[in-house]
Amino acid sequence: MTTVYDLTLDELTERLTAWGEPAFRAKQVHRQLWQRSATYDRMPDIPIRLRERLQTELPIQVEVLEEREADGGATRKALLRIGERHVIETVLMGYRDRVTVCVSTQSGCAMGCGFCATGQMGLRNNLTAGEIAAQAIWARREAPRLPGSTPQRLSNVVFMGMGEPLANERHTLGALERLTVRMGIGDRHVTVSTVGIAPAIVRLAEAYPQVGLAVSLHAADDDLRNDLVPVNKLWPLGTLIEAIQAWRDRTHRRPSIEWAMIDRTNDADEQAERLAPIALALRAHVNLIPLNPTPGWPSRPSPRARIEAFAAILEDAGVAVTIRDTRGREIAAACGQLTLEHEAAAAR
Ligand code: SAH
Ligand code: SF4
Repeated sequence: MTTVYDLTLDELTERLTAWGEPAFRAKQVHRQLWQRSATYDRMPDIPIRLRERLQTELPIQVEVLEEREADGGATRKALLRIGERHVIETVLMGYRDRVTVCVSTQSGCAMGCGFCATGQMGLRNNLTAGEIAAQAIWARREAPRLPGSTPQRLSNVVFMGMGEPLANERHTLGALERLTVRMGIGDRHVTVSTVGIAPAIVRLAEAYPQVGLAVSLHAADDDLRNDLVPVNKLWPLGTLIEAIQAWRDRTHRRPSIEWAMIDRTNDADEQAERLAPIALALRAHVNLIPLNPTPGWPSRPSPRARIEAFAAILEDAGVAVTIRDTRGREIAAACGQLTLEHEAAAAR
């Protein structure tokens, strides 16, 4: 079953005219859904009987199962049931100058990175384009309720929630169309994070050259990366770096490299020394993220001093680097954990 957000305007028109509605109705509903992020109970220009029928036959299907807050409410992590079947996580983050939502593209993930809570679940389902976009619609409705003196608008979308966007490529591209064209979010305010599916990175650059790219590298040699990120066996570092280079050539944008700092695993000076020339060649920005410990993997985050020493090696080599914090506002990295906890509680 598809959600109402999966329908194109033509498909919606077809559906509503089959119900005997005038042709302009579909346009009105479409505008309410995408430009106003409205639920059916908040569409004053649509007759009530039609809204009731829409509610029954094309329900919105975004149900909040659980919500957690951090940073005094500036970060909100929601467990959503979408399309009546997938349970996924969406995180809304309010900053001084922007509001970002982190969306999921799959329920679970097949890529098998051991340190990742979502990876530990395995793949359950792909989300549809409409189901991915529905999270941004939810976020746009919620954004004004974040604390802050001025009313806040959703400004940015990052594909860093559960799942591997480029392993669900068709629907990820479909979601990008919905976000940028229908919702009017600027392409430059959207970032796709990938584990490194090389050929799909090149296709992303062709389809959406203004959309940002983050690559989860985590290791700078194939042996270590094979362990941490098993898909490296399919697209080893050399192939991946070429793909990022091709992305850069096409987009002229600076890619990000994500690096989870894992105690005594990938945090040695030697890894920083190998990473530096890679990052320089790609003119990439490196984000160091202390590992968020997960129940299914025994490692710990690197100590602060180690992270700083690692960052210093990169900086000395001329690499742009940021150390991210693990407080609530970076909980996107821990996506999947809330789902696992929820399921454990349900099983008790
Ligand atoms: N599948 C995509 C996007 C979702 S994961 C990807 O892997 O890029 C979003 C980011 O969170 C990735 O950089 C991922 O490596 C990181 N991440 C996953 N589990 C983490 C953990 N336990 N601690 C810190 N970062 C983690
Ligand atoms: Fe999947 Fe990304 Fe987690 Fe790896 S880090 S298992 S690709 S969600």
